[in-house]
This record gives sequence, C-alpha cells and structure tokens, in this order.
Amino acid sequence: LGSRITHAIQQMNNVTIIDEKALNDCLNEITRALLQSDVSFPLVKEMQTNIKKIVNLRDLAAGHNKRRIIEQAIFNELCKMLDPGKPAFAPKKAKPSVVMFVGLQGAGKTTTCTKYAYYHQKKGYKPALVCADTFRAGAFDQLKQNATKAKIPFYGSYTESDPVKIAVEGVERFKKEKCDLIIVDTSGRHKQEASLFEEMRQVAEATKPDLVIFVMDSSIGQATFDQAQAFKQTVAVGAVIITKMDGHAKGGGALSAVAATKSPVIFIGTGEHMDEFEVFDVKPFVSRLLGMGDWSGIVDKRQEVVPKDLQHELVEKVSQGNFTLRTLYDQFQCSLNLPLNQLYSMLPGISAQLMPKGHEEESRAKMKRYMTMMDSMTDKELDSSNPKVFSESRIMRIARGSGRFVREVMEMLEEYKRIAKTMKGIKIPKNGDMSKVIPP
Ligand code: GDP
Ligand code: MG
Repeated sequence: LGSRITHAIQQMNNVTIIDEKALNDCLNEITRALLQSDVSFPLVKEMQTNIKKIVNLRDLAAGHNKRRIIEQAIFNELCKMLDPGKPAFAPKKAKPSVVMFVGLQGAGKTTTCTKYAYYHQKKGYKPALVCADTFRAGAFDQLKQNATKAKIPFYGSYTESDPVKIAVEGVERFKKEKCDLIIVDTSGRHKQEASLFEEMRQVAEATKPDLVIFVMDSSIGQATFDQAQAFKQTVAVGAVIITKMDGHAKGGGALSAVAATKSPVIFIGTGEHMDEFEVFDVKPFVSRLLGMGDWSGIVDKRQEVVPKDLQHELVEKVSQGNFTLRTLYDQFQCSLNLPLNQLYSMLPGISAQLMPKGHEEESRAKMKRYMTMMDSMTDKELDSSNPKVFSESRIMRIARGSGRFVREVMEMLEEYKRIAKTMKGIKIPKNGDMSKVIPP
C-alpha cells in the first residue's frame, strides 16, 4: 500500500502542469490503495474531499514541493480521523474502576483483558478479572489460566449460568478487596445476535462500568464500521482495542471503529502473549498504514527522537560526504520539536552559526522561514549537494513559490553552503559521538 501511495504522489510530482485532473488522478489512486487497506468507503471519500479543500492547486503549480504538500495533507487527515476529540476514561489508582470488555466471539476479549490487566499491574495498579462469559464452555478456564500466569486475582464460576449475577458478585468482591481496576470479561457470539446485545446491556446496567472497551479483530476488514456501530448502539462504548495487528491486516479498520464509536483506540494487540500489547499512538500507526519509508520524515519526532539519534543519522550522511539541503531540512524539522535548551547540543557546526545562544526564538523563526523556501524546491534541488544547480530562474521560482524575496532565498543558500562546508571539515570520532566534536 505504502509504495502504491508513494507512487501515486511521485507521478504527480513528475507532472508539469498541475490541474484539477492531475490532482484527481492522484487522489483516486490513493483512494483505491486505502480501500484495500480496509478503510471504509465513506471515510476515504471524506478524506478526499478534505484534502481537496486543503491542497491548493495554485500552491502546487507555483513550484511548492508537491509531494510534501500532498503527503502532509494525507497524513494529517488520517491522524485527524483517528482522533475523536476526547480521551478515553483513564482508571485512577486506589479508586475502584470497573472496565467492561465487549466484542464478538474470537475478537480477542479474554486475551486482551489479561493484557490490559497485566499492563496496569506493571504500572502499579491492583487489577482483578471477572469472567462473565457463561456462554462458551471453557471460558472460565481460559481466563483462570491467563490470570494465574500473570498473578492477577480472578472470579468466575463453573456452575452459575447467569452472567449478570457473576459479574455483580465479582465486582462486589474486588471492591471489598480494594482492587482499583476491576475488569469484566463478557461473552460474544459469532454474529451480532439480539441475545448477545441483551446480555451485554444487562451486565452493563448491573455493574455500571466506568469504561466499556470494544475489542475488534483487525482482520474483519470492511465489516468493522457496522459491527462497531451495533455495539455502540447497545452499550456506551468509550474506547477501542484492535487485536491481531501482528497478522496480515493493515489496520484501516481502526478509522472505521473510531468513526462508528466516536471513541479513541487505546491499545493494539500484536500477538497471543501477555506482553504483545502496545499503547496506541496515532502518528506511528498512520505512517505504518501508509507504509513507512518516505513517510517517516513527517512523523513528529518529539517523543521518539533524542538528540543522539539525530546525530547518528547526521554522522552517516556527513560521512558519506552528502550534506544536502534535504539533510538540513530534516535536521530543522527535528530541531523544531526539541525543547529550546537541547537545540544547541544537537548539531555542532549548525548550532554555532544558526542558533546563537540567547536567540533561540529567532533561530526557530529562521528555520521555519528556510523550510518554507525549501518546500518550494524540487526533489532534484533538495538532493543536490552542488549549489551551482540554483540558476537565477530557479531562485526566482523558489522565491515566488514561497512568498519570500529573492534576496532571502540567496541568503538561505549562502547559509547552507557555509554549513555544508563546516560539516565537511568536521572529523567524526570512531564511536560516532558528535557531541564531543568541536567545529573547525
Ligand atoms: P474472545 O472470544 O473475544 O474472548 O477471544 P480470545 O481472547 O479467546 O481470542 C481468540 C483467539 O485469538 C485466541 O486464539 C487468541 O490467542 C488469539 N488472539 C487474541 N489477540 C491476539 C493478537 O493480538 N494476536 C494474535 N496473533 N492472536 C490473538
Ligand atoms: Mg472470551
């Protein structure tokens, strides 16, 4: 999928005249790819409409970097669609919360209940598991086995057939035992039958959960929206967990689940084991959905990247004698996400010239200004390490495209040349630790 989208956008980048048709062709190709990834049709349509509103044909024609503009728009749209606008209920320590799990049979409820409990136990909560599945033979044994492995208290019965009664007894008991996260596992049916929904409704009414989590199997594909909606209409679903993301599913169903339940995805399951469970993070998920590679540069690196990683990347590029404008752009993008006091520590040679101490805000503004200009460059220009490629007409086009003066573009190119030269003079230590390097 990723390569297909990347290809569609690349095609667009090669087109000399950007008109309505070229943009439509590109968006249609992306639409087909997203549908194959299980994103539902109405959502893809919605995205297409929004992107057309955001992406301005005039900007594209003016020589802005088309690929970056469209990529960014798609990425942002998908992120927005995964954000229902309100966070899920978060259990508090030392205050009893009841969390009920719902979903079809085989979705992964029982497995996920334990993962969820185990995750919180490691964070210092006192979780407990209640098996309110009296429908499936062996349901209690399965929960018992999981819970025992994770050393989590559990409650259930081999003889009682009323799930409501068990749920209430279990919740009562664990409240008395001062557990702060009481998890109720419920039964599912193969289909969305009336009896399943009635049972779910009764368990919810009797246990008054603080949070109902809808568990869905990522491999059900286009069926997600209707299924999620049916559950939401019966109980107050407040969060979604997507399971079996380790399989072939591409995860596009997540967008449908969020749209149908108006609730956020909070975790994903990535295997059968207890610790194969990840906190859901929108941006990495979307870049995975789009097929990483070219998309990774757009991901906000605030959380993941520490300056050392940046340096490592930089070291590699510099040691290959390859400090292009794109390298500089990427470094800017990362720096903008760093706290002020870390700005200078990251780039020897760059920091001294571009970010004098005490002028951090101005430096930031300057980086942003430079990036706008670079956005108007073609790939060839960004990837060239030969400043001679910038003819007068190119410089004028970049100035026009970014709404800056020709003189400013020239100043930026001069600055780039200076930095590139400095980078060449840097001797890189064998261990790659650039923080010890003193620029010449
Ligand atoms: P329930 O009927 O909703 O309670 O589903 P179960 O928890 O019993 O899970 C059904 C099957 O899916 C079991 O074989 C689980 O091991 C498996 N399963 C659950 N979550 C995951 C996951 O994230 N990845 C993989 N590969 N298998 C999973
Ligand atoms: Mg189960």
